[in-house]
Amino acid sequence: METNQTENGKELSPFENAPECPRCNKKMLPWKTPDMTNWTSKFVWVCFNDECDYFKRGWKWMEEKYSKHVSYRHKLDPETGETGPLPVWSEDALREGIITKKTGS
Ligand SMILES: [Zn+2]
Repeated sequence: METNQTENGKELSPFENAPECPRCNKKMLPWKTPDMTNWTSKFVWVCFNDECDYFKRGWKWMEEKYSKHVSYRHKLDPETGETGPLPVWSEDALREGIITKKTGS
């Protein structure tokens, strides 16, 4: 099993210290970063709250600006602390990447 360590040796866990979304104050969820991206983090924190203001406004904004049915979810990189939008094309999009704690054992 791979370890997930930062340069200073501090281990990042997707199950500890979940930050709150600054837009909706809900706990963000760990989302596995796809292999083909150049993100250094193994996972990023993403707000998967469908009632999140950021997410809800994204639909309208993109529809008006680009006539596209897409939106964004708020994302936070645990290694760099950078925040930004994570594009989604439906409410269910990217949910399969959410890291869930294995039960049992
Ligand atoms: Zn949110």
